[in-house]
Amino acid sequence: MFEKILIANRGEIALRILRACRELGIRTVAVHSEADTEAKYVKLADESVCIGPAPSSQSYLNIPAIISAAEVTDSEAIHPGYGFLSENADFAERVERSGFVFIGPRPETITLMGDKVSAKDAMKEAGVPVVPGSEGALGDDPKEIIRIARGIGYPVIIKAAGGGGGRGMRTVHTEAALLNAVQMTRTEAGAAFNNPSVYMEKFLENPRHIEIQVLADAHRNAVYLGERDCSMQRRHQKIIEEAPAPGIPARIIARVGERCAEACRRINYRGAGTFEFLFENGEFYFIEMNTRVQVEHPVTEMVTGIDIVQMQIRIAANEKLPFTQRQIQMRGHAIECRINAEDPYKFVPSPGRIAMWHPPGGPGVRVDSHADTHNFVPPHYDSMIGKVIVHGDTREQALARMRTALSEMVIEGISTNIALHRELMVDAKFIEGGTSIHYLEGWLNQHKR
Ligand code: ADP
Repeated sequence: MFEKILIANRGEIALRILRACRELGIRTVAVHSEADTEAKYVKLADESVCIGPAPSSQSYLNIPAIISAAEVTDSEAIHPGYGFLSENADFAERVERSGFVFIGPRPETITLMGDKVSAKDAMKEAGVPVVPGSEGALGDDPKEIIRIARGIGYPVIIKAAGGGGGRGMRTVHTEAALLNAVQMTRTEAGAAFNNPSVYMEKFLENPRHIEIQVLADAHRNAVYLGERDCSMQRRHQKIIEEAPAPGIPARIIARVGERCAEACRRINYRGAGTFEFLFENGEFYFIEMNTRVQVEHPVTEMVTGIDIVQMQIRIAANEKLPFTQRQIQMRGHAIECRINAEDPYKFVPSPGRIAMWHPPGGPGVRVDSHADTHNFVPPHYDSMIGKVIVHGDTREQALARMRTALSEMVIEGISTNIALHRELMVDAKFIEGGTSIHYLEGWLNQHKR
């Protein structure tokens, strides 16, 4: 096992990784920007290194600075967390070339899965069901583009091969709008992702977002840890996640889960990963794979009892998976609410000083957060300041625990979306379960303030 790991991230996930290291007896190095000097995890880490000014381009995305920090601290491995450099194949490669272990898949795998067109092709080959669409990227011939769209049937969605974070997508309802939409998405994709390649998919009208968590070791063993339902989204950004997905029979999950594990073995996947699907009329449609730990990993940890971050580290240290698929048992139900520093209804970010931080507690309640009273929430980064996760024997109990937890939670000095979560936890349709990816936006329109 490693003796020292450098954590190339910030916020709640930096603290999460630090905790996993502590339990495994590994020393930690926190790297941080000038805006995060006072952060809790920076103080808790065994060592810390300031890697640059507040803007992430000069700190958390500064590859030479991070590698130098690993060198001066004699770190053995680097954990990239999520966001920032976590899905950057160039970073993974430079980490390995500098003699450190990258805690994640091989650079080639990140490249393969980072391009949504090649990812979809690889998944199709492995027998994973995908959204019907163009064979690979769209070419330049307008007639051919029109023909492909007619073949798929409207509405279609034009997506950037290099897209991410809910950006680089455009829905098209009529042939008249098609070519212009393709052109605009291409231009945007070239500017935003440095890759003008776009592809076309059937636009699914009312799907749910269901994803499968996988773990694969370097010895071709792969398992799936069940599913998560992440349909509660605004602008393609998840805000509530749960496991298991309400109303989807375990045998249907097992079928798609097996395909995902098999795909991992085929592409020689290593580490933790997530296969994202849209789910409509009982069918799964692969949309993309995330080759890193995800924000919502705790709900899976709560129902399986498996520490996903520790597993990432143990896999990177070349250990074999310590369990087989049959030994993985799901128990009860877990729900996560992302706590964002923002106006609960207008979604305007609300950075600033936290005057009071009172987290909830009690049976089955977990709070993953680096925040605390008097902490400053910098304006430079994502507005998520923590996650409340609950576990119960049943979904009803989990919901009741989340309501109690949210009612106990007090954050003063900045605005947060706690009020929105409180309302959603008593919403009849959400309580019923199985809402689609459009439900939250519709709800917000109806509850305009
Ligand atoms: P990103 O990498 O930006 O997150 P994804 O491909 O994962 O992009 O898609 C993000 C979200 O966009 C999905 O969760 C879903 O809400 C919507 N979406 C993507 N593809 C389709 C599609 N074919 N039909 C309907 N909605 C889609």
